[in-house]
Amino acid sequence: MTPPQAALFGAVDLGGTKILSLAVAADGDVLGADRRPTEAHEGPQAVLQRIAESVLAAVRHAGPGRTLAAVGLAVPGPIDFERGVVADAPNLPGWHDVPVARLLSDMLGCPVVLENDANAAAFGEWRLGAGQGARHVVYLTVSTGIGGGLVLGGQLYRGANGAAGELGHLPLVEDGPLCGCGARGCLEQLASGTAVARRAREMLGRNGAPVLARLAAGDREITAELVHQAAEQGDLDAREIIDRAGRYLGSGLVAFVNIFNPDVIVIGGGTAKIGAMLLEPALAELNTRAFRIAREHVRVVPAQLGDRAGALGAAMLAQTALTPDRPRR
Ligand SMILES: [Zn+2]
Repeated sequence: MTPPQAALFGAVDLGGTKILSLAVAADGDVLGADRRPTEAHEGPQAVLQRIAESVLAAVRHAGPGRTLAAVGLAVPGPIDFERGVVADAPNLPGWHDVPVARLLSDMLGCPVVLENDANAAAFGEWRLGAGQGARHVVYLTVSTGIGGGLVLGGQLYRGANGAAGELGHLPLVEDGPLCGCGARGCLEQLASGTAVARRAREMLGRNGAPVLARLAAGDREITAELVHQAAEQGDLDAREIIDRAGRYLGSGLVAFVNIFNPDVIVIGGGTAKIGAMLLEPALAELNTRAFRIAREHVRVVPAQLGDRAGALGAAMLAQTALTPDRPRR
């Protein structure tokens, strides 16, 4: 029989372009890793085969004699958690109602647990990252979109049928920009990197943002990072665009604090790396508009696990699924 210390948890973050697999010990230590392209155009069966190969490669990197206890898989889209089925994945062609947990479990010979990527990242930051020790955590990732996840009362909160935690789709502005979800004026359309870039392009179209115009000369892509760079070099229009995105982000924080009264809000994602210029106006909103007892309690902290949050969270969810009665802080 395999000694228990040799058993590892497989952790996979499945993205539209790449697969990240980790071999994780029970305490969250990462002992092996593998990255490879998703090649999503080849369809679910080929991608699942590639995931299985990637997990096994990560386990091999962890050293000889290691076996898989279970695998957690974070996927970019809504899932049916109970059945282990990917309902839909906008970035993965052909992924509709794919029974991923069963198919992958057959390939790997161990239990497989699925989770939506933002939920998995929230769980990862709670168990191993910036939310450790808290009971109520709101996780927000601000990048090209805005994703979210909720750990409430020490448990991942999935809602009635798995759709909870879509924090980026908080409706903020009536008749605002159209969102991918079909609604208008969602937080994601006002405070994400995509929103910052869109407003910057509008500003350039009106001959504003002169420093940004110079940086963007030669058809350089307008990104939130470039807008930030222009703002740092004194572009007042660029600065106002980021400040405004920050205030909208703050409106979101006010809502989350008033509704959930969390111990911690963890903010991750590429656009959040803009840092103080985005976050200070957000915190100013929080500190003037949220309920006092809730805002005085909450800590707003940067995420700690970077692009490993989803995979690590999925591994910890797989571990929790194997040992559901194990007490958690
Ligand atoms: Zn939306």
